[in-house]
Amino acid sequence: MYLRKDLNPLLKMKDISFEAQLLHTPYDKEDAYRALAMPVYQTAAYEFDSAEAMEDAFCGRSAEHAYSRITNPTVQYFEDCIKNITGASGVTALNSGMAAITNVLMNIAWSGSNVVTSPHLFGNTFSLMKSTLAAFGVESRFCDLTNMDEVKSRIDENTCAVFLEIITNPQLEVVDLKAISSVATAAGVPLIADTTIIPFSAFKANEFGIDIEIVSTTKYISGGATSVGGVIVDYGTFDWSRSPVLKSWAAQAGLNAFTARMKKEVHRNIGAYMTPQVAYMQTLGLETMQLRFEKQSASCLALAERLQTLEGIVSVNYTGLKNNPFYEISCKQFGTYPGAMLTFDLASRAACFAFMNRLQLIRRATNLFDTKSLAIHPASTIYGNFTEEQREKMDVSPCTIRLSVGLESVEDLFHDIAQALM
Ligand SMILES: *Cc1c(COP(=O)(O)O)cnc(C)c1O
Repeated sequence: MYLRKDLNPLLKMKDISFEAQLLHTPYDKEDAYRALAMPVYQTAAYEFDSAEAMEDAFCGRSAEHAYSRITNPTVQYFEDCIKNITGASGVTALNSGMAAITNVLMNIAWSGSNVVTSPHLFGNTFSLMKSTLAAFGVESRFCDLTNMDEVKSRIDENTCAVFLEIITNPQLEVVDLKAISSVATAAGVPLIADTTIIPFSAFKANEFGIDIEIVSTTKYISGGATSVGGVIVDYGTFDWSRSPVLKSWAAQAGLNAFTARMKKEVHRNIGAYMTPQVAYMQTLGLETMQLRFEKQSASCLALAERLQTLEGIVSVNYTGLKNNPFYEISCKQFGTYPGAMLTFDLASRAACFAFMNRLQLIRRATNLFDTKSLAIHPASTIYGNFTEEQREKMDVSPCTIRLSVGLESVEDLFHDIAQALM
């Protein structure tokens, strides 16, 4: 059976399951050899038949590829797969999650604008907002995003976005997305979310009012930590006509203004596009993402429950646990299995170091959602370059261990943790 649109127009992609849509996303053009796996177009440039065809491509009148900093067929295929399964209006793949976040903010911010966000952010995102963007006159307003009155009071006419992470790491705080989305919408501000912690298959960002979704594809999507990458998913739900930097784009592209400027100006100027080899690996990873997520997140919940019984563990933090303060909102937004990452607290920083050093199966490494389980002590690593006072403000405790649960059995992981606590 052909699922390619051009060969069988009767079969509509939206009538088939998520998995089938993903696996059978059509190529933009038929491959010369009918390759079943998308070939890696490892080329910097593309040749044209005539000066006219070249002019058309460079001036945006045709969709031909010209240069791989701007577009590449393999990367575009990866973008098309994500577009297909999310129903987004535009997807841009970059060479890291941080590049995706930076490109988004460069696309919407201006000198004198501000971003309303939380101090509970991934370390580099916090540093980007606090230091890198501040030098360009973009202010970051760190506040409590679970308090809607506070959010409202921090938004003003120069706010270019409300930015959040759907489950913060390592604090595991969950914001009521529909509530914050209605606050942002009422103020005419887009809601931008880093959704890295739950894959698209299990969390539909646009159903919760997220206008722009950002994912570090290094995590679930790369499929076994093969490569670093990031994507920007634009749902075409925000009216950019009042944005000083996007209004001229909105006049031409309407609701697609964000992606139009991203593709035609910002991402090509910054030059952090995903590379074809990475897009190839990440497309393979994307195909098995949901399967891995189901197993890893179910193991994570089972492990979270069992770890609570271990002597030496002071507390276990996972929003899928019934005693967690965010349990209800987490279930509403993310279902029974809110990701494959948990944290637990030990008595002291020294106890954490001793624990880390005794691990035998679980690897001492950063990264999330690898097929292997990984443990890290966030305060001394990801947040190691912040001051004690900054860490306190960010609620990064010296007693916390973060665990990313892989594909090993729960039994094996439990035993490794139990023996490392001895
Ligand atoms: C890892 C991570 C990032 C950064 O992604 P890179 O691919 O490492 O650049 C951003 N946000 C969250 C929530 C992450 O876990």
